[in-house]
Amino acid sequence: MFRRINVNLDVPAQVEALKWLLSKAFEAGTTLQGAVDWINTSRPISPDYGLNPIHHGMCTTACRILGVDPPEVFTLHPINSPAVLLFWRCLLAILTRCNSQDIRDFRWFGFSEPTMAVEVVQEALSESESEPGDLIVVDECDNVDSDHSEHFDEPSTSSGLPNVFDSHFHLDRTSKVIWPDNPNGHTVEELISVSKHGSSRPSVPVNVVGGVVVYSEPQNYPAADFQLDGPWKVAAGVHPKHYQKFSTAKRLALNGLLEHPKVAALGENGLDRTIPPGEWRAQELVFENVLRMSKPELPLVLHLRGPSGDTYGSDVTGRCQAIMRRVCRREQKIHVHCFTGLSQVVNDWLSDFPNTFFGVTAAVRRFDEEQKSGLRAIPRNRLLLETDAPYFPVGNVPYSTPAYLGDTAAFVAVYLNIGPCDLMQLTIRNAMTLYGS
Ligand SMILES: [Zn+2]
Repeated sequence: MFRRINVNLDVPAQVEALKWLLSKAFEAGTTLQGAVDWINTSRPISPDYGLNPIHHGMCTTACRILGVDPPEVFTLHPINSPAVLLFWRCLLAILTRCNSQDIRDFRWFGFSEPTMAVEVVQEALSESESEPGDLIVVDECDNVDSDHSEHFDEPSTSSGLPNVFDSHFHLDRTSKVIWPDNPNGHTVEELISVSKHGSSRPSVPVNVVGGVVVYSEPQNYPAADFQLDGPWKVAAGVHPKHYQKFSTAKRLALNGLLEHPKVAALGENGLDRTIPPGEWRAQELVFENVLRMSKPELPLVLHLRGPSGDTYGSDVTGRCQAIMRRVCRREQKIHVHCFTGLSQVVNDWLSDFPNTFFGVTAAVRRFDEEQKSGLRAIPRNRLLLETDAPYFPVGNVPYSTPAYLGDTAAFVAVYLNIGPCDLMQLTIRNAMTLYGS
């Protein structure tokens, strides 16, 4: 049994509610800083919990309203800004000081509209002063419906969760990790369902409205007449680590797959320098071979990875660009998958191939300052989000699925200083531009 509190996206209203709450929870005259000091001293919030980057925007706005300087990074342990008091765990901590009537009053304090920054679902708030129960942070998005649905099949507008498009993930490889004894025949919906109901749920739940399923191991190509229900598109190509498997028969199979109505891209293909240098040339020849199957309007998905120690992959990218200048047309649509490079790399791509898009994975969490500059150099209309599932796990499970894309969006949004929902929406638009709607 859960009840719901909606904390409005309207930050001024939240600040007002917070001040009201403090007047009930503390002695008269207690300041916001006094409440911060109380939490920092009495530590009612478990150190296991931290702020999600998705709250950065809300806290920054609150700082403006409160007339205090925002810190570079907001922290919960210790709380380093009064704005952090708006974080729902802080509100709950303060609510434990209130009597039942005040809790009930706060529950309805100006939050009748379900355009929420944070949704706290919690029985304990209304019924008792016992330990808080299960709490669910939903999002900071506006224009969401109040009817939060648990069903993936519900249309996106009624799920109450922000929509995302996962531009790159592997159904076959992820199935192999989740169901090692029974890896075949699973659907994307099953992958997403596992993450929604498993032990490690995404911290930023999202509604995956589309994505690109990548088949890049020639030995695992689907049949030429494969069936795929749902809003998913397919990319088929030759992963550079599997270049040796690209036989004449597989080349014919790939040619056939490219005719399939669901196949919207050629990839992932590319260069991967983590194999012994003696094999690089052979790998390049296969890459060139695959490039000759490309058409400018068919997006080409690129996997470019330098040898260990080459974080930015600048050399391998330069080599790829040299080959592509020879083989591909300037108008070629390109998706540089799992981008981890420098701003110069972004500029080089766009000057040679202006129809280049850049996919960003959860690797963004480990970006250094140079890579963050590279991320910021990507024009907003060229940015894509991708999980590359099963790789780049973000939860406590050793794999990712498209359901975790919101967690990556939250990080990217902070680095780009835009709202996570704006980011998710613009990357859906970009994916539609590249892959077709
Ligand atoms: Zn991949």
